[in-house]
Amino acid sequence: MPTKLSRRDFLRLCAGSAAAISLSGYLAPFIKEAAAAGGPPVLWIQGGSCTGCSISILNTVHPDIEKVITEVISLRYHPNLAAGAGNLVIEEMYKVAAENPKKFFLVVEGAVPVADDGVYCIIGERNGHHLTFLKAVQELGSQAAGILNFGTCSAFGGFPATPPNPTDCKPVKDIVKNVPIVNVPGCPPHPDWMVGTIAHVILYNELPELDAFGRPTMFFDKIIHDNCQRRQYFDNAIFAKNFGEPGCMLELGCKGPFAHCDSTTRLWNGGTNWCVKAGGVCIACTEPQFPAWPIYERLPELPVAPGITATVDQIGGVLAGLAVLGIGGHLAGNIMTGRIGPKKNQDEKEGDE
Ligand code: SF4
Ligand code: SF4
Repeated sequence: MPTKLSRRDFLRLCAGSAAAISLSGYLAPFIKEAAAAGGPPVLWIQGGSCTGCSISILNTVHPDIEKVITEVISLRYHPNLAAGAGNLVIEEMYKVAAENPKKFFLVVEGAVPVADDGVYCIIGERNGHHLTFLKAVQELGSQAAGILNFGTCSAFGGFPATPPNPTDCKPVKDIVKNVPIVNVPGCPPHPDWMVGTIAHVILYNELPELDAFGRPTMFFDKIIHDNCQRRQYFDNAIFAKNFGEPGCMLELGCKGPFAHCDSTTRLWNGGTNWCVKAGGVCIACTEPQFPAWPIYERLPELPVAPGITATVDQIGGVLAGLAVLGIGGHLAGNIMTGRIGPKKNQDEKEGDE
């Protein structure tokens, strides 16, 4: 008797699963049934990246990665996990695509180098010729039911597309048009974000609800700053001046006030910790502009909404825009009080103290 997981329960699980039990642990039995009934195959290709996103998903703790790729995701090709190599696996990947036109999902990890016809990123050989990542993304992407970008590089360009960008790396959306794309960003992304996104596709045969940047809202609708353990310091204007000190990390470069993800409750590495709680700053690795900012400096401007940045000087105009966009009142309040926005110069800071 098939078990039905309602979409409401699914979303509740995605939002609520945290700490020690990974999302894949909850979802495995449901997805196994759906996959047995003919769930879509998944192909995973890798280009201009550090492989960190794959490493992140390999860290899925429960169930272990073997169960995830055999029972949770019908993963038919992954460059690091394939037992074979060379022509054999490349041909198999293309065969799966040809046998499942507009039915399989393509996971893309890494930005796409397009300079000189993509020659700077060769992922194999086909028909006696080099197969560039660019060509694979174009050919497989256009045949897919949808593309799931795993990591900030394939979603938005990330590190490879940051100037001077000599190989002219681009995000996947600039390469393949007219195919639904989901962005699961992060540097790297949390494994639950990808497992949950693929699970949604398999269970309900459609893409999850997305935000303005193509990110699944079930994982990316929260602002880090709202649930940060150091938030009380921020509210009381107590700022750490050095790493290791108590206090809000804003002056040390924390980008939590505009970063979207659920790390504060989901936690990383099997429920061990998350970025700020571990003593670092949030670097906003899930945002489209990442990493085009100084990691350990307070930003002179705050990107508060798509296409909108705020400084204290501009705040009047921005607040009107925020109201239209329904941005939270606390954020506007924090900008007005000057806690978020340009770093005060040293004289002002000393005068405040
Ligand atoms: S600025 Fe960073 S450290 Fe401070 S409360 Fe917000 S998220 Fe936490
Ligand atoms: S808390 Fe910040 S740095 Fe950590 S994963 Fe989320 S967006 Fe990235």
